[in-house]
Amino acid sequence: MDVAERAEEGDAADVFTLTSHGPRDDPSDAAIDGGEGVDRPDDLYVRVALDQPIPTLFDYRYRPEHFGGVIPVPGMLVWVPFGKRRNAGIVWAVVAQTDVPLKRLRSVEALCDDCPPLGADWRALIAFAAGYYQRGIGEVALPALPQGLRDPSRWGHLLPREIVYALRDDVPDAYTRLDAAVPKRAAAMRRLVEALAHGPLSLPTARRLHPRAAAQLDAWCASGTLRRDEIDVGMAVVPNGNGGSPLGTAGDVTERMDEAAGGVPIDASTVSPAARILSAEQQEAVTQIDAAALAGGFAPFLLHGVTGSGKTEVYLQTLLHLLTRDPLAQALVLVPEINLTPQFDALFRRRFAHLGDGAVATLHSGLADGERTRHWLAAHLGRARIVLGTRLAVMASFTRLAMIVVDEEHEAAYKQQEGLRYSARDLAVWRAKQLGVPIVLGSATPSLESWSQAEQGRYRRLSMTTRPATTARAAEVAMQTPLQPAGAGSSGADEVVTDVPTVSPLAPIDAASGVPQPHVLPRVTLIDTELERQRKRPSIDGFSAPLVAALRTRLAQGEQSLVFLNRRGYAPVLSCDSCGWVSGCPRCSAYLVLHKLDRALRCHHCGWQQRIPPACPECGNVDIAPMGRGTQRAEETLAELVPGARVLRIDADSTRKKGSAAALFANVHAGDVDILVGTHMIAKGHDFQRVSLVGVLNADSALFSHDFRATERLFAQLMQVAGRAGRGGQGGDVLIQTRHPTHPLFQALTRHDYPGFAAASLTERRQAGLPPYIYQALLRAEAKTLEQAMAFLQRATAHFDAVVAEAESSATAGRSDAREVHRFDPVPMALVKIANTFRAQLLIESASRAALQRLLPAWQQALRADQSGVVRWAVEVDPLDI
Ligand code: ADP
Ligand code: ZN
Ligand code: ZN
Repeated sequence: MDVAERAEEGDAADVFTLTSHGPRDDPSDAAIDGGEGVDRPDDLYVRVALDQPIPTLFDYRYRPEHFGGVIPVPGMLVWVPFGKRRNAGIVWAVVAQTDVPLKRLRSVEALCDDCPPLGADWRALIAFAAGYYQRGIGEVALPALPQGLRDPSRWGHLLPREIVYALRDDVPDAYTRLDAAVPKRAAAMRRLVEALAHGPLSLPTARRLHPRAAAQLDAWCASGTLRRDEIDVGMAVVPNGNGGSPLGTAGDVTERMDEAAGGVPIDASTVSPAARILSAEQQEAVTQIDAAALAGGFAPFLLHGVTGSGKTEVYLQTLLHLLTRDPLAQALVLVPEINLTPQFDALFRRRFAHLGDGAVATLHSGLADGERTRHWLAAHLGRARIVLGTRLAVMASFTRLAMIVVDEEHEAAYKQQEGLRYSARDLAVWRAKQLGVPIVLGSATPSLESWSQAEQGRYRRLSMTTRPATTARAAEVAMQTPLQPAGAGSSGADEVVTDVPTVSPLAPIDAASGVPQPHVLPRVTLIDTELERQRKRPSIDGFSAPLVAALRTRLAQGEQSLVFLNRRGYAPVLSCDSCGWVSGCPRCSAYLVLHKLDRALRCHHCGWQQRIPPACPECGNVDIAPMGRGTQRAEETLAELVPGARVLRIDADSTRKKGSAAALFANVHAGDVDILVGTHMIAKGHDFQRVSLVGVLNADSALFSHDFRATERLFAQLMQVAGRAGRGGQGGDVLIQTRHPTHPLFQALTRHDYPGFAAASLTERRQAGLPPYIYQALLRAEAKTLEQAMAFLQRATAHFDAVVAEAESSATAGRSDAREVHRFDPVPMALVKIANTFRAQLLIESASRAALQRLLPAWQQALRADQSGVVRWAVEVDPLDI
């Protein structure tokens, strides 16, 4: 299907009213529809990216006279007919010739001219992602835009308007008059005058200089020295060659705003609050990243810092230096899940408050459409200085992206699991390379992919092995950070006030020297549950005696404990002892989980729900029992085993209501909770200052998984959860219950030895020929029956073999790397049925990424031709779950 085939369908009438920039009242309008087939000398052709599952661009006619003479440029948003419908698209190229027969060519119907065109670097990112992940450009580009940009009814008023004051250039002595009128003592008024001397002043900026700026400025307008204009916010932003107004208006305002940007005096009350004195390791990291940023060029860093080593502080201070040095620079900070770490968001806002409202913009799927569009535009226009977002933020557009941070870079959440299955971390690295800027990948347990890059010297490793001393933590110092114009000398690091801090009573003091010691990491102890049983101290409902004793002690000491169990619900399955019945989901190949509080059996895969049966549905036995345990059951047990403890459960069930997670975590921080029990939701990110004990139940299941990444994930997860202990300086303990205490994973964990674990794992992966030593792609198929899915994959193997043979035979000089791509046989997926859909997969891999990439397009083409409609399929590059 292409545009030409659809040309005769649909009509182009009356959509012009959708935008403020439809054709003017021009008599030739009447000719638009009737004149589709007529070529005119001034016509241009645009190649447009549309969100269609076809890897091609679509040609349209563009008549400048219908758009006030505006000449199209790549990156512009347009509204075009497609089939019987209309779609938003992005101009990808403007061409002089088209292969579509002119009489079938359709026309661009509207264009969005208040959003500056998407820049060349953004388009390059999209094109790369489309190529790498084997999708069409439009399929990647359009979904990367917020909804508001794809909705033509909003075009024309996407940008907020802003009031700007400037000295009247038609009044030659305007400045002298103003200057003479304002007494030297009137500090706030003087600041306004100073700023105006540099150029136009927007009202929000003016308000930061003078609390009642509006009244004052209006008074000066009345006295004839100032003028007041209302302008589009976008127009006031300095373009850097890829942003800016497509129409080239407001150039003079732009230039003078630019000059003003560096010179605005800063009120002492608006400087950044409370930066911390860095530990030596933090300082070293900041220095190195600063140096790379100053030197310019792509500089990938792997910031390997144990939990609690203060990686966030490294990001904050580096960003502060960068954004202070360069008043136009922007930074992208990616986090795995924004809602789980509201602290992070608040911290960034606080630290960068002096950059003004909206300097920190968040981007994540939890935002309402309007807000997301506004934040997205703020980045695109250069107004947002820091974009703090989840994986989707990696596709945001910037005017001057100068640094990228990926926090907890190992997190699986960076991998999009539907649609375009991209890795935001990998795209972030690509983007940094393309732009020639530093990128910091931070983690206590880096992905083996990133670790091996560092081992090979491709990433620069920065290690932080200790937690900053409590003493330093007690001494919060206000960091004076005057905004300086680009190029002004001081690196910012020198400005940290380094008074000798007072010693906190919590800080461990070295007896010999009297010097406060850096924080120690929590002590990890393994509880051998098998041994406990032999010693006649069996676990009670999953809790071993030593763990219960430790929980009671902490309660007595008034300290918090955390119990981690990565399984929600009451019990993973209900079963009948007498006939062997288990509660299975009727729609999935999975168990129904017992949710005792709601008296329901629930499927965690498809959402199926039913009431708990009073008796076994097979044999009528009334004695059906829950098997295993989830967080609800652990909560119940804890109430019995640790009397008097205030137990709080945090998991997906207890936080279903929007905002409820934040409220629950606030209780923990406030000290209103003694024992926190929960899933992975409590394991990462949170800086619990009062938790001194972490207990881990049931960690063994992942040890012997068929998924080769399971141990990597388990290790990361246990390190993360262990890292919640002892952050407040009180020293922490981690107790892990296991039947396999000698397992190397647990042994490495007790030593906090990530490098040892990584080295062993990488050796295993190399020997087994697994990633990162091999590159994979997965073809997944879904159908109403397993036979259909498997049959499709069987045909896919034939297509694959044919594509390889074809590549061989057409290769010049008989050489092709297609043979380096290895194909496995199709297999049903481990969880073969979900919601009555059967799933199967086919893996291909190669030691050469290039060979794999070269083969995929031809294979996909063959698959597309084979498509019958009964099977849904997709190719995933670099799959995480196999
Ligand atoms: P990570 O992300 O590396 O696990 P965080 O960034 O959460 O660690 O920092 C852990 C704790 O240490 C936080 O409470 C943070 O405020 C504190 N902290 C960080 N740097 C310093 C420092 N230089 N001095 C004192 N406290 C610090
Ligand atoms: Zn039964
Ligand atoms: Zn189900």
